[in-house]
Amino acid sequence: MRKKFVAGNWKMFKTIPEGRELVKAIVKKTGKKTDVDIAICPSFAHLPMAVELTKNSPVMIGAQDVSVREEGAFTGEVSASMVKSLDVTHVILGHSERRHFWHERDWLISKKIRIALRHGLDVIYCVGENLVEREIGLTNEVVLSQIELGLRNIAGEALPRITIAYEPVWAIGTGKTATPKQAADVHKSIRSWIADFYGKDMGDTVRIIYGGSVKPENADKLMKLPDIDGALVGGACLEADSFMAIIAAAK
Ligand code: PEP
Repeated sequence: MRKKFVAGNWKMFKTIPEGRELVKAIVKKTGKKTDVDIAICPSFAHLPMAVELTKNSPVMIGAQDVSVREEGAFTGEVSASMVKSLDVTHVILGHSERRHFWHERDWLISKKIRIALRHGLDVIYCVGENLVEREIGLTNEVVLSQIELGLRNIAGEALPRITIAYEPVWAIGTGKTATPKQAADVHKSIRSWIADFYGKDMGDTVRIIYGGSVKPENADKLMKLPDIDGALVGGACLEADSFMAIIAAAK
């Protein structure tokens, strides 16, 4: 049985005081025990505060990126070892906004995945097709090639530390959600690719979560599907009640 996982991607939202209130509210509503793994992924600037406020809580903290380099004269970059030294547990890599606006390619993301794992960070690896790719029927080819290239040189033992987030680009921040069938089909092909490449046990173990306009109103239908192990939530995680409602749906 795979434990469900719900992660909130704050993107570049919230001042530090606003972020503090949101983390406090999520910690309070979560309580001391949860059946669902929960991670909050705020900006780098929020991380020390968020880690501090979640010290006695099951809520975990993730970053939204790390540098592809270990250290050095790279102005503005933040390394995996810096993030890890804050007691952050996760990092989102390959998000479509980074692929699109910062032209991150699979080879670069793959290198970031290896650096993150090497420094003890668990990875939420985002993949997904854009609208044109879906319309011309290339969804599986695009997603599976992102999986293959992103996971290149990653040994099977490391796989339980990677959560795959299937996020159709056309559904992110648009209010359009993949239908449960569209999501289930892609999750199924990702899982069979993992099973073919890493073995059936790994196919059964790896968590594949869905992202793309997940809201309290649609979470239930998506989360019920056997291959959907949780959600990566953008807009709806910026408010404690809607984030908690999605977590409740995952239970
Ligand atoms: C995301 O940023 O990963 C995301 C899924 O955003 P939204 O829920 O707003 O579509």
